[in-house]
Amino acid sequence: MQEQASSVEDVLARVPRELFIGGKWVEGRAGERIDVEDPATGRTLVSVAAGGVEDGLEAVGAAQDALGPWAATPPRERSEVLRRTFELMRRDAEALATLITLENGKALADARGEVAYAAEFFRWFAEEAVRLAGTVQVAPSGTNRILTLRQPVGVSLLVTPWNFPAAMATRKIAPALAAGCSVVLKPASETPLTALAVAALLAEAGVPAGVVNVVCTRRAGPLVSAALDDPRVRKLSFTGSTEVGRVLLAEAARTVVGCAMELGGNAPFLVFDDADLDRAVAAAMVAKMRNGGEACTAANRFYVQAGIAEEFSARLAAAMSSLVVGPGLEPGVQLGPLVSGPEREKVARLVDEAVGEGSRLVTGGAVPERAGWFYEPTVLAGVDPGAPILRQEIFGPVAPLVTFQAEEEAVRLANDSEYGLISYVCTSDLARGLRVSEALDSGMVGLNRGVVSDPAAPFGGTKQSGIGREGAHEGILEYTETKYIALDW
Ligand code: NAP
Repeated sequence: MQEQASSVEDVLARVPRELFIGGKWVEGRAGERIDVEDPATGRTLVSVAAGGVEDGLEAVGAAQDALGPWAATPPRERSEVLRRTFELMRRDAEALATLITLENGKALADARGEVAYAAEFFRWFAEEAVRLAGTVQVAPSGTNRILTLRQPVGVSLLVTPWNFPAAMATRKIAPALAAGCSVVLKPASETPLTALAVAALLAEAGVPAGVVNVVCTRRAGPLVSAALDDPRVRKLSFTGSTEVGRVLLAEAARTVVGCAMELGGNAPFLVFDDADLDRAVAAAMVAKMRNGGEACTAANRFYVQAGIAEEFSARLAAAMSSLVVGPGLEPGVQLGPLVSGPEREKVARLVDEAVGEGSRLVTGGAVPERAGWFYEPTVLAGVDPGAPILRQEIFGPVAPLVTFQAEEEAVRLANDSEYGLISYVCTSDLARGLRVSEALDSGMVGLNRGVVSDPAAPFGGTKQSGIGREGAHEGILEYTETKYIALDW
């Protein structure tokens, strides 16, 4: 125990606590700080510097100064810097995972998974950096050639949430740098430490001063707004709630800044009578409980066919209630606390309302008596298809179950949402699986799988879950402009 405590102190002592602008660690001009809380205890871990509008614009200036030389750096050299960052993240994987658990609360196993996933974006985009091809074709008239190039879009503003403090940052930084862009990252105020630690690794890997800047702030709105009004900013990549995404899309319209938006989800999870129940429950547990339910991809609404509804509900409840709940760093813990008091209040309120309106509590449904922002793993059955809990992101360890009769009904219920990030389907009939996958209005489908995230795959949503894709080859294209040259020779 003593050994673990000292290693936690060590991890915290090594993290920079300033803003990272133009390759230097600096205090914010107004001298403000953000207290970073441990959600497992509610206590303050450390505080970090918080910047204001002037600091944000200084970071934009540093990124602009660094842009030309970085864009002109040979792709192979850019690639090697990204590859070194991948190696450094692997070297420091345990410290980074500890840091994520400390500031976010998730169980250490989840944090380790996140670090591995986050690091992979540097490896993947190190490979993509040298594969940015253009095209050449003969004009249909035959009079000339049409040549297209992919050029870096320019200074990119990256705004990230608290639920994956490492991966949501690396999923943006890696493709931006691979394409030759410089960036200003604004991490979530709940979880600034991981972003600062990743910035230090990028600097160690040889990223030139100003190519990556990190500005934490207590006033995200004014800082991001001012940066979007600055003509040097040419791209916004935002991951966060649909509510804030809508505001930023409107703000970006003022200067016609290109936007990549990874927003909220409300994932349906469909289980058909013919599904292999062991696999379906295992997939449901991952889809629901990865990251303690605090994931945009989290299964939010379970639609289970009538023939297996009782058994699925019982088995899922058994799996949920067997989870070991506690502080994320304690050995054996599978479910940590929620990130904050307000988040737990929201989850508790949604469950209480659902029970009040007639849903049956199969397991959980209470706030445990302990310090920190914990909530019991919960299964609700017999939920009315129109219930409020099915219409918004729960973002917690709660699985509401609805029973359906026919395939068309399941697809209709699943698509009845303003969100379209991801859907899950469990069936042993491949033809049905593919038919339903095609009919679901979401950017991604997990077919007999509870996890889809992969740096080599295009991640993103339809409807109000977002615009654009991250990862895969499409991920680097987000940070490029197409230039067309009409060529006569
Ligand atoms: P959030 O409240 O929208 O915040 C996200 C980021 O935006 C934070 O850095 C936040 O800064 C900043 N922000 C808040 N208000 C702003 C404003 N008016 N102007 C500019 N920036 C502003 O989301 P969250 O609660 O951190 O994250 C959870 C949400 O993210 C969920 O909806 C989840 O589904 C979504 N998410 C989506 C994906 C995806 O890939 N589609 C992945 C992960 C998470 P402060 O922290 O300083 O307020």
